[in-house]
Amino acid sequence: MNFLVTGAAGFIGSHLIDLLLTKNHKVVGIDNLKVGTIQNLSQHKQNKDFTFYEGDIANKNSVLDAMKDCDAVFHLAAMADIVPSINNPSEYFNANVNGTFNVLEAAKKQKIKRFVYAASSSCYGLPDIFPTSESADIKPMYPYALTKRLGEELVMHWIKLYNIPGVSLRLFNVYGPRARTSGTYGAVFGVFLAQKLANLPFTVVGDGSQTRDFTYVSDVVDAFYTAMLSDVSNEIFNVGSGGTYSINKLISLLGGDFINIPKRPGEPDCTFADITKIKTMLNWVPKIAFQSGVTKLLNEIDTFRDAPVWNKESIELATSDWFKYLGERNY
Ligand code: UDP
Repeated sequence: MNFLVTGAAGFIGSHLIDLLLTKNHKVVGIDNLKVGTIQNLSQHKQNKDFTFYEGDIANKNSVLDAMKDCDAVFHLAAMADIVPSINNPSEYFNANVNGTFNVLEAAKKQKIKRFVYAASSSCYGLPDIFPTSESADIKPMYPYALTKRLGEELVMHWIKLYNIPGVSLRLFNVYGPRARTSGTYGAVFGVFLAQKLANLPFTVVGDGSQTRDFTYVSDVVDAFYTAMLSDVSNEIFNVGSGGTYSINKLISLLGGDFINIPKRPGEPDCTFADITKIKTMLNWVPKIAFQSGVTKLLNEIDTFRDAPVWNKESIELATSDWFKYLGERNY
């Protein structure tokens, strides 16, 4: 099969391309290079099985063009991060909802044989039940979560109505080399590794007892590949590590001083995927234990040299709209 990967130059997209090329598939990647970087794909520059399109999924013709010789689609392209989605929801709606609509319409037109969507576990908001299963309530807390969920609804609708076989994968806190650091205040690993390199204290939110289902990127791309090769269709699957780990545990593994910064309103004290469904129906299991994942990442800490270094003051400034809109409410 010839695959299209949208969001090819991003963190997860580029790891997926590494895997697909190792398995000797022909791969086309599309990315607008707004968040992803071409360096994430530099290892495939000379590979004749890989074609890169610099293009935006918000542009129908770019998507059609990139998809023209493909049989199956991995749709990962999206705007990520919470803070900018609160400041600028229209950009998120355009990329994550309209962009997904364009990819689906192109898939319909091209008679794509299989479609796998990267959804976000942020759709569960502040879950009531742990581990959280796919049937839990949907409660997006901010525009990033909402737009990824709207994208998922579109995908599931197109799968059913237009008979495009496919599934959606709800990813829980993916981490690993090339984790996105971009200009905006974002995922914890980029923040902490840059702080470690700069010999600055880790900025621990709250008392650090909150836990996340940190899932290593090689397990995540393996789930994408497994989902693509399966015949199972019209299903949504959680993709998690099988555990949940506190921020205090993370800093003990990373090693270094820390300071505490205010708890962020509207963020869950725990994320923890129930992965029974994907284990049973797709026969997928996570392989990388948290401690080994963190060790692997520490071995590549130098790749975070260019990441922005955040401190208490700059985080306070960057998250002011977060506190403004989500603060002082009883969730
Ligand atoms: N976190 C932290 N310090 C930071 C950034 C994040 O302690 O500077 C914590 C945050 O409270 C959360 C976890 O790290 O419990 C993961 O945060 P991230 O923003 O990566 O993901 P999300 O909150 O969306 O799960």
